Amino acid sequence: MGADTGLLDVVVVGAGFSGLYALDRLRAHGFACHAYEAAGGVGGTWYWNRYPGARCDVASLDYCYLHDRDLYRSWAWTERFASQPEILRYAEHFAQSRGLYPHITFGTAITAAAFDDGLWRLTTDRGDTVVTRFLVTAVGCMSAAHTPPLPGLDHFEGRVLHTGRWPHGEVDLTGRVGVVGVGSSGIQLIPEVARSASELTVFQRTANFSVPARNRPLTQADRDAAVAGYAQRVAEARTTRFGHAVTGTGQAILDTPPTERAAALDQRWAHGGTHIVATFTDTGRDLEANAVLADYFRDRVRETVQDPETARALTPTGYPIGTKRLCVDTGYYETFNLPHVRLVDLREDPIAEITVDGVRTARGHHRLDTLVLATGFDAFTGPLLRMGITGRGGHALAEEWRDGPRSYLGLAVAGFPNLFTITGPGSTLVLSNVMRALEHHVDWVLEALIHLRDNGITEFEAEAAAQRDWVGQVAELAGRTLYPHTDSYYLGANIDGKPRVFAPYAGGLDAYRRACEEIAREGYRGFRTA
Ligand code: NAP
Repeated sequence: MGADTGLLDVVVVGAGFSGLYALDRLRAHGFACHAYEAAGGVGGTWYWNRYPGARCDVASLDYCYLHDRDLYRSWAWTERFASQPEILRYAEHFAQSRGLYPHITFGTAITAAAFDDGLWRLTTDRGDTVVTRFLVTAVGCMSAAHTPPLPGLDHFEGRVLHTGRWPHGEVDLTGRVGVVGVGSSGIQLIPEVARSASELTVFQRTANFSVPARNRPLTQADRDAAVAGYAQRVAEARTTRFGHAVTGTGQAILDTPPTERAAALDQRWAHGGTHIVATFTDTGRDLEANAVLADYFRDRVRETVQDPETARALTPTGYPIGTKRLCVDTGYYETFNLPHVRLVDLREDPIAEITVDGVRTARGHHRLDTLVLATGFDAFTGPLLRMGITGRGGHALAEEWRDGPRSYLGLAVAGFPNLFTITGPGSTLVLSNVMRALEHHVDWVLEALIHLRDNGITEFEAEAAAQRDWVGQVAELAGRTLYPHTDSYYLGANIDGKPRVFAPYAGGLDAYRRACEEIAREGYRGFRTA
C-alpha cells in the first residue's frame, strides 16, 4: 500500500501484539484501517529480540491474549515461560487466523507524521504518503534499541550484535565473545553464549538482582486448569495491580520473624519467577524493608558463585531491589563458575575504547571475535520520538516532550489531536502485564473511536489541564515508591541527555483502568471534541 492509498479512518503503526489486536478490533468494527510495520514480519519485540535464551519472564498462561476464549483454549503453550520462537509463532498464528496480513505493510517505517487540516499525513521510509483521520501508535515501549556511544565501536573488525536487533538465522557464537550489559536480555543470553563460546567476557557496569525462572514444560493438566480458570483470569485482569494474580503473604517483612521471612522467601525462590518481590507488603515502599529482601538475594549470589571476588562483583549494591526491573534467569550465576567465563567489573575497570580486535579497559585488553551489546532501549518515548510526529501548528512531539513525556492517560497528548498512543508513557507500561494493558488500551481506544463515529465528531484531543493533572498524578504515585532512588530506564537515566522523568503510572493496572473507564463514562472528561 503506497501513495495511492485512499483516505483511511485509522492507521496503526506497528504489528506487535498491540498493533495486531488493534487492527483486528478496528476491522471488526468497520473502520477502514491499515498497519505499517518496520520489521519484515509480525511480533514486534518478539520479532527483533531473537537472541539465544530470549524468553518471557511472565508466565505463558498470563502472557497471551485473553479477549478470545477459543484462542485461549486452543493455543497449547509448551513451557511455563515461553521462548521467543514460540511467542512469535503465537503472534503469527493470530495474524494469520484473523486474516490480518493483507492489511499490514511490512518493511516500512513511518518517518514523519504531521497533523494538518484535520488529517494525519504520514511519510514512510519508502517515500510514500498515507493520509488518515486517526493515528494509533502501537510501537511498543521497548522497541528503540539503544547502542551506547562506546568510543571506537566503529573500528571493531569482528561482529557487533545488539540483543534488540538480533539477526535472523544461525549466528556463530563460537570463539571469543564479549557481552556488554547485564539487564534482562544479557542475563538470559550469557548462559547460552557460554555453551558455544571458547571464551566469554562479560562487561558489567551495574550488578542486577536476578531470580531463577525454574522454567519447566507445561502439562496438559496445567493447561486444562488455566482454561477452567479463564473467567477468573479475565476478572483478575480488571481487579489486580499487575493484571494477573500475584499472591503475597499479606504481611510486612519488618513485622515478620526472621525464620518466617526466610521460609516465605525460600519457598518463592524455589518456585521461581518475579512474584518473589511481592512476598511482603512493605519492600516496595520502605528502604529498611527493601534492604532485608535485597540481602536475601545477595546471599543467594554468594552461595552460588565460587570465586569470592567474582561473587562480590556480581552482588548488587547501592540501589533498592525492584527499582530496576528484576531479572529472571536460568543458570546465570552458575555460568561464572565455568573456567572460560570472566567478569569485568566496569565500575573498577571501565571501558577505555573498543579496538579493532576487542575491548580495552583501564586494566587490560580483551580480545574478541564477537561483541554483543545487551545495552537495552530508549524506553517508552524513544519509539514515538523516532517517528517524527508533529501536531497542531507544526509543533513537534520531540519539542513537547523536551522536559519529559506529558500525556493524558498515556493514550493521548494535548496538541496532537486524533492520535492514540497504545502503551504510551503515563500508562502502566512495564509495571503491569503488558498483554493485559494493551488489550485494555485497544478496547478503550476502539470505544472512543466508535463514540466519535456515532456522534459525528471529527476531532478528539486531550485538554492541557487534564493532561497536567494526569502527569501530576503519575509523578505523585512514583514519589510514593522507591523507584526514583535508582538510575534506570524507567526514569530515562540510561540515555545520555534524556530528561529524568519517571514515565510509568505506578498506581496499578486496576486503578489505571478505573480512571480510564470513569473518564469515558463522563463523556470523555478532559478531551476536547469538535
Ligand atoms: P536494560 O535492562 O536497560 O539493561 C541494559 C544493560 O546494559 C545494563 O546492564 C546497563 O548497565 C548496560 N549498559 C548500558 N549502557 C552501557 C554502557 N555504556 N557501558 C556498559 N554497560 C552499559 O536492557 P535489557 O536487558 O535489554 O532489558 C530491557 C527491558 O526489556 C527489560 O527490563 C524488560 O522489561 C524487557 N525484557 C524482558 C525480557 C523478559 O521478558 N525476560 C527479556 C529481555 C528484556 P547499567 O545498569 O549500569 O545502566
